[in-house]
Amino acid sequence: MELSVQLFTGNAVTPAQTDIQEIINKLNRIYERTEISGAYIGWNKDAEIHSIAELLKDNGTDIYLWLPVFSELSLLAEFEPLIGIDGRKIKKLYNPADEELFSFCCPANPKNIEIAIDVFEKHYENSKNYAKGMFDGIFLDKIRFPSFIGGLSTVTSCYCDYCRSHFDLPEKNELSAESMENPMGITAYEDLCYKMNPGYRKLFDYKAKAIYNSLEHLCSYFREKGLKICLDLFAPFIAFFVGQDYHRLLKLADIVKPMLYNKTNAPAGLPFEINTYTKAFDSNEENAIARKVHLLETVDYYGNFIEKEVDGIKEVIVRNGFDTKLHVGIEINYVKDIAHVTEKYIKESIASVKNADGIIASWNLSTMPLSNIECLLDELYD
Ligand SMILES: [Zn+2]
Repeated sequence: MELSVQLFTGNAVTPAQTDIQEIINKLNRIYERTEISGAYIGWNKDAEIHSIAELLKDNGTDIYLWLPVFSELSLLAEFEPLIGIDGRKIKKLYNPADEELFSFCCPANPKNIEIAIDVFEKHYENSKNYAKGMFDGIFLDKIRFPSFIGGLSTVTSCYCDYCRSHFDLPEKNELSAESMENPMGITAYEDLCYKMNPGYRKLFDYKAKAIYNSLEHLCSYFREKGLKICLDLFAPFIAFFVGQDYHRLLKLADIVKPMLYNKTNAPAGLPFEINTYTKAFDSNEENAIARKVHLLETVDYYGNFIEKEVDGIKEVIVRNGFDTKLHVGIEINYVKDIAHVTEKYIKESIASVKNADGIIASWNLSTMPLSNIECLLDELYD
């Protein structure tokens, strides 16, 4: 089982208060026990990471630049907006993890791919803060549509001019709720996909195509630069709702990292995203509970659900003969009120992802208690 680590250095413009020596101590502690196959670092453009990078290079660890493509890069450039079915711009969304508003741009419009590439070249590739050749790979995050975090209206997107003229989008009347318990008419979850009513299926097919097209373009750009590619993806059962189709995306990447965050009460965290789905369709409490029960029963969330998600991804890789590695993201950090990660939880997580090729200790080395790191190492290498 390979081990990698993730390090958040602050948002695009404001560096985090990173204790460099503490990071180095943690990395050295891990190196005493095992190799680190990759370090995913981002996404502050001015972060001072030379000494960390030097240690990683000396130990043969690949360094990946972590980029939030269709979301937080908007702090560095103006992107074409994401438009709802009513023709209005999707409003900014609140992320409880960093207590900040964030937004998504249209992930389908090729103009936004060009802008994201410009941002990479101007602020990261040619930045004086990053030595030439420092990065071995690129770690693409926020490569998706928004989830149900802003309600149903954020999911019924994008209806910008580009999307309306290039894709088959459902009309509003095709998206009427079947019932409040099961508004999208979901009847099954099989092979990482949902069977559901034709209108919603059309919507999610469009999203899957749009994200794939954009990523094909982005990945070929980064490949030409000689960079390895890792994709940061939602867990399959919620990835479907944001346009991340594992069947399409697996072939683009060297590594895929499903975020199997069972404790995180923030975007991509399973409890958080399940709740955003259940609250999205109306404000009635009883309906929300019924929707939650229906969804969880359909995907068979109980028991060894995480293991089944991992096996489902693995099966698609094997069936298609891809050589993509499956490195699962599990939370090792502890963040008060947001990620209550205990040693017991770490042990359970590791047991449930044993069929993966690797683990990426997520989502931030800075906020990982040493006791959690020790627990991870004991579980993996004792
Ligand atoms: Zn659009």
